[in-house]
Amino acid sequence: MRIAVVAPPWISVPPAGYGGIEWVVSLLVEELVRRAHDVTLFASGGSQTKAELISVFDDPPTSRMHENVADARHAAEVVRVIQERAGTDRAFDVVHDHSACIMLAAAPLLPVPLVHTLHGAFTEEMRNLYRQVAHAATFVAISETQRAGMPELPVRAIVPNSVDADAFTFAKAKQDYLLCLGRVSRPKGQDVAIEVAQRAGMPLVLAGKVDPGDDTAYFDREILPYVDGQQIRFEGEVPDERKRELMAGARAMLFPIRWPEPFGLVMVEAMASGTPVIATRQGAVPEVVRDGVTGFIVEKSEDMPAALQRLDEIDPAACRNEAEKRFSPAVMADGYERIYEAVVMRRGG
Ligand code: UDP
Repeated sequence: MRIAVVAPPWISVPPAGYGGIEWVVSLLVEELVRRAHDVTLFASGGSQTKAELISVFDDPPTSRMHENVADARHAAEVVRVIQERAGTDRAFDVVHDHSACIMLAAAPLLPVPLVHTLHGAFTEEMRNLYRQVAHAATFVAISETQRAGMPELPVRAIVPNSVDADAFTFAKAKQDYLLCLGRVSRPKGQDVAIEVAQRAGMPLVLAGKVDPGDDTAYFDREILPYVDGQQIRFEGEVPDERKRELMAGARAMLFPIRWPEPFGLVMVEAMASGTPVIATRQGAVPEVVRDGVTGFIVEKSEDMPAALQRLDEIDPAACRNEAEKRFSPAVMADGYERIYEAVVMRRGG
């Protein structure tokens, strides 16, 4: 099958640091290439792939994230190539879009079916856009929770995100610290992680990027005053290698979210490292963590210190096994292949 995969332009694929969508796109594209599909990846320069790479930006415009003109330039190049190849022996069979929304605007005019993965949280304006183009795109959700965010949207299937477990370090022996890794933001609850670590009397390593604006204000007010370099350490956005080391060594990964997280890739990354996840029952958490097997799901964050007392009940090998079995790139590619086949058949391709 000839497949065009559209990544967001802001970060290269795979990412060097932060970038959940970019990891998912990378793992999917490489798996599709391995399965002998003819794949073209639209992503910014610096991306590494065995697929054909088409970039309008030589370097990802990270500092201009979500700027309309940059997004439009990326999409314009995708549309140009799709149109140029239409009707030739290089015509795409399907376009798989992972960008936020701009490709959806073009969907009704494209000569090729468009599959759109819903990666982010719903806003009222996004719901309005989905309604406007629902007839022209095939939507895929990454969790049941996400689908439930807009039940009236015809979602073709749920395809969970994946992680390359082999790229993580599996460690049975753990060190004496808790980890909370992810974008620093109030909905992710790093302030709660600090409180939990203090109550449990355990060291905590916080790692993650802090975006300007609300996230920086949150960091300055609710995180930084508690960072003492001893019990509470903050490492900022860590490179991949450090991330793997931190995940493998942690006694547990804290995931004290206070929003309906659509997936939460870091939970699977921890599992791949043999590290249990202690998470609040929010969003996709119950779809990712198996309570009592790969970690503990608590009803409220006050229950986290008690869950930490029970970490010995969790077998690191079971965590790893779950990441490998349920969240592998192969499982994800199976899911998407089925969708591509269905949309191509419907078009009579
Ligand atoms: N991540 C990272 N460095 C950071 C913060 C996050 O490498 O400073 C990675 C993290 O390991 C995961 C991805 O970025 O692979 C974030 O994905 P997730 O679904 O957990 O969160 P979100 O997309 O909501 O930020």
